[in-house]
Amino acid sequence: MSKIKVIPCSGIGKVFGLLARESVLMVTEEKCPSDTETLCLAHVVTGDDEVVAKIKGETCITMDGCAKYCARKSVEETGGIVVKSHKVPDFMKAHRGEEHGTGTALTDDGWKYAEELAEILAEDVKEIKAGVN
Ligand code: SF4
Repeated sequence: MSKIKVIPCSGIGKVFGLLARESVLMVTEEKCPSDTETLCLAHVVTGDDEVVAKIKGETCITMDGCAKYCARKSVEETGGIVVKSHKVPDFMKAHRGEEHGTGTALTDDGWKYAEELAEILAEDVKEIKAGVN
């Protein structure tokens, strides 16, 4: 099985975009490095041959910063199979009132939230590997 692609939206300038990117990096670099990899959404959108080849027909998880679902839509349009799609605001309930930072820097609470999002992604990876998605 090739590595599961975990792809965040670009969300530049928004804390939710930064949370999406940081949580994906935690999964691909720290929690599940041998089972996952990430790809640059800009290359997905522009149809970079190498990136398209890596996504087409492959199992993907997306983490978006808002309901526009840029990552999910771009991956699907490129032929990736999105088996799990999340958006950062979906998990905000337990974090209301917290200050998570800016589009360029997370606060301590922001890092904790990113860690929680990364755990959700890591659980997805476990489920997919176990064949129960
Ligand atoms: S999903 Fe929302 S936050 Fe992410 S790139 Fe698209 S518009 Fe920006």
